[in-house]
Amino acid sequence: MGARTLVVDFDGTITEDDLLDTIAIEFGDPDVYREVDAGLDSGRLNLREVITREFEPVRRALEEVVAWELEQVRIRPGFRELVELSSERGWRFVVVSSGFHELIEPILEREGVDVEIRANRVDPRPDGWRVHWSYGDDCGSCGESCKRAVAEELSGEGELVYVGDGYSDRCAAERADRVFATRGLALYLEERGIPYVPFEDFFDVARGLNGHP
Ligand SMILES: [Mg+2]
Ligand SMILES: [Zn+2]
Repeated sequence: MGARTLVVDFDGTITEDDLLDTIAIEFGDPDVYREVDAGLDSGRLNLREVITREFEPVRRALEEVVAWELEQVRIRPGFRELVELSSERGWRFVVVSSGFHELIEPILEREGVDVEIRANRVDPRPDGWRVHWSYGDDCGSCGESCKRAVAEELSGEGELVYVGDGYSDRCAAERADRVFATRGLALYLEERGIPYVPFEDFFDVARGLNGHP
């Protein structure tokens, strides 16, 4: 049996709700959020522009936002169990996110999970948070700065399994050998006739992977 890599989105996939959206609304400017989100839906803005712009009005201290998220953020059931299963089976498990290391690491630590993370970074300046985007420009497939190249690099020669929920997962999911999808990503793949396995929690994902070793 060949190698297997699980690439798992963070916001709205590991977490029950999209943390980036919630923070941009709660601590930023809801009007800016609504405007750029509509821009993404209409294709006027790409994801990088949207995330950069919706965090410009956020001016809170990072510690304050981290304290808030540690109280508020809920994780989909079965996450830790799937990480443990992956480590038992020798599967590589990588969180690949358009969010920020600074917000992801405290949550994973709270869950007692230690996994590889690929994500952007944020400089939480008092005059507005600055996003340091880490993904390359001009993806050959979607034309955006997307997760596909990272997924491809991580897949190596083995099977690439992708688990995601939304816009940022579309292009990388199309590259994967197997996709577990929910919410917007599931609708997107459905519309295009791309096969995927629906999931509600990580126990579903573990069952799916165990059923097809
Ligand atoms: Mg997501
Ligand atoms: Zn792409």
